[in-house]
Amino acid sequence: MPDIAYTWVLDVEDNEATFESLAQCDDRFLGLDAKIRTAITKHTVGDHANKYRELVSAILRETEAALKRKVPLRGRQLLFIVRRFYRISDEQHMQFDLTDLMTIAYPGDPKMQVFLDDWDRMLANMKLERHLISDKFLETTLVSLIRKSDRLRAHVEHWDRMITGHADRSYAWIHGMIGKVVVEERQRRNREAMLQDHAHSQKATAAPAATSSPTPSATPEATNKRERRPRDTGDGGSEDGRSARSSVRLGDIEYKDRCCIRNIWKKCEETVENGGCRYGPHIKNAPEIIQKHSLYINMLAENGVPEHPKGKGKGKGRGKGKEKGKEAVPAEVETAPETTP
Ligand SMILES: [Zn+2]
Repeated sequence: MPDIAYTWVLDVEDNEATFESLAQCDDRFLGLDAKIRTAITKHTVGDHANKYRELVSAILRETEAALKRKVPLRGRQLLFIVRRFYRISDEQHMQFDLTDLMTIAYPGDPKMQVFLDDWDRMLANMKLERHLISDKFLETTLVSLIRKSDRLRAHVEHWDRMITGHADRSYAWIHGMIGKVVVEERQRRNREAMLQDHAHSQKATAAPAATSSPTPSATPEATNKRERRPRDTGDGGSEDGRSARSSVRLGDIEYKDRCCIRNIWKKCEETVENGGCRYGPHIKNAPEIIQKHSLYINMLAENGVPEHPKGKGKGKGRGKGKEKGKEAVPAEVETAPETTP
């Protein structure tokens, strides 16, 4: 068996091997394959991962793609990615020059990581030797590129305010800030994905939560209808997700009756088709039920009340940016007029 397993792992090196062909896994190797996957995936988080950000993003991209296709990603496929990654960096040693650096287009905040990866890769593969390129040049070039970013605006403004000579007025600082934001964004996305997953998995096991009829309970007293108690509106509800009995699950809501939560804050990165993504329609106002979803509450707490384009012209300049320190208001927003029969 060990020898067979060895050959099996080495298939990755085979010239015939493709990412797709390695998706097939013989039953007898499933255990081993899972071990390989775990071993590699372990390195895609934490400080360690930051050192190999480009490779890690290649792995995460495939992981997400597999998730979307709802097929398992195999350990050997991950090995394949690692191998391909290093082969490309060896053989296709592309060389860049300064104009390449200056003409990278900022691809938008959702792709900030790609941008930073590209930047670093180019810089690592310059025709000029690195020490011949001044930090000042890199600093001003990088800043000019990221001025298009909303997410980085506060940092750029900070950089603007600093006088020459200040530690924050430097290439290292601005580059470091982008890296920091990239990592924070990834962590936030992971957290949100967990919330979404949590919502989905609950759906699978949850009791068939009756819509409005009270559950048949043991004590006759409980069925005494005094007044329907307001369904757990306490705001301590989210402290312990497990006990959130009245938690809202996307899966329980018809597609047309829900909405994409991240899109409310213009942060959806899913594929949008027919005015919506897989989570829901892309509409401006979240239906009341969605406003009780744990992700919505979480997003609200982190991003504040979503802005609605209310004809308010773009007030540029003047104020000091969008940091209003606005406190997140709990979502008790009156929505559509009731239509009681
Ligand atoms: Zn969406």
